[in-house]
Amino acid sequence: MKRETKLAHYGRMATPGPANPPIVKASTILHDTVASYKATKAARETDDAVLSYGRRGTTTAHQLAAALADLEGGEACFLFPTGVAAVAGALTPYLGAGDHLLVVDTIFPATRSYCEKSLKRNGVTVDYIPWDTTDLTPYVKPETKLVMVESPASQTYEVMDLPALCASAHAHDLLVAADNTYGSGWLYRPLELGCDLSVVAGTKYIGGHADAMMGAVIAKGRVVGPLRAHTAMSGQTLGPDEAYACLRGLRTLGLRLERHGENGLALAQWFPDQPEVAKVHHPGLPGHPGHAVWQRDASGSNGLLTVEFKAGFDAEGFVDRLALFSIGSSWGGFESLAMPSSPDAGRLFPESRAGAMIRFHAGLEHIDDLVADLAASFDTARGR
Ligand SMILES: *Cc1c(COP(=O)(O)O)cnc(C)c1O
Repeated sequence: MKRETKLAHYGRMATPGPANPPIVKASTILHDTVASYKATKAARETDDAVLSYGRRGTTTAHQLAAALADLEGGEACFLFPTGVAAVAGALTPYLGAGDHLLVVDTIFPATRSYCEKSLKRNGVTVDYIPWDTTDLTPYVKPETKLVMVESPASQTYEVMDLPALCASAHAHDLLVAADNTYGSGWLYRPLELGCDLSVVAGTKYIGGHADAMMGAVIAKGRVVGPLRAHTAMSGQTLGPDEAYACLRGLRTLGLRLERHGENGLALAQWFPDQPEVAKVHHPGLPGHPGHAVWQRDASGSNGLLTVEFKAGFDAEGFVDRLALFSIGSSWGGFESLAMPSSPDAGRLFPESRAGAMIRFHAGLEHIDDLVADLAASFDTARGR
């Protein structure tokens, strides 16, 4: 069955019944017999769809987890209240005092903070690798356990060769966790490219409407058992209202990403013609770092692009004049956004940039209106 069809059918109830699984709110789950209670507690250790106690999620979260596991090609999916909680939840089960972690230098800044401030404090050592690493041999130590990657890179979208990196990692008996928020289970599937764990901030495209927070870790193979145990032990779960919002978002994930992708690419192709622009960062542009790998491994791009302006251009003034692009954290909702971006802050291998960088998220508006809004702001800057 095609993925578009699956999106319309995930969680479908027995008929006659509602088209959407209802919001199931529960802490305690009641039983009539001690035997039933005991059987449920035993079953949940291997079956994530067992309704046993609210901390293990109710039916609404279970339906969402099953859908995401299927979309990402995983065996199991565990849900968290935010994307950052999912990042922590994907790393912590496999790392203890004395272990060594490798992280791609172009990682999402909050992931870097977790590694630097929390994992290090607990005795994990952390080193950073360049985004174009395919052979991990120079970085691996006897105590190295896991490689945390993100592709395309945060804010600058360099595309990693995940199949090559995973082959090297597995040759050294290392696990690979990938932050797949960019692809969100639709454009890119790290587990199929060789990764062991895929992390998605569902806050972005899966919720898709700027009104829900969610994180997911999808896994396959030997990592599932420790992940299931640690998620339960640390009390991580997703409430039914957020799970419902994300299931509802899933119905239009493919359609929305098609429009976000078209709009993002159209803007990425429009900006380079503006004389104030030095460079546009977008994985769909020929010449972008990793573009050929992106064409090989992904089915499209999302609504993100980062524009590097020439030195001296008042980029913040340019953003302030926009009417259709609002200023705010996050992305992946229906709305267009523009944000000052400092991708090199904290990076070990910074690049030199021409001038100010602005990260745009192309929303679901008509492309003609978005271009007109940007053109009007350029016109003002040009004194027209
Ligand atoms: C937003 C984001 C996260 C964190 O998600 P929250 O829900 O905001 O905690 C993690 N990784 C990436 C790549 C993100 O863009």
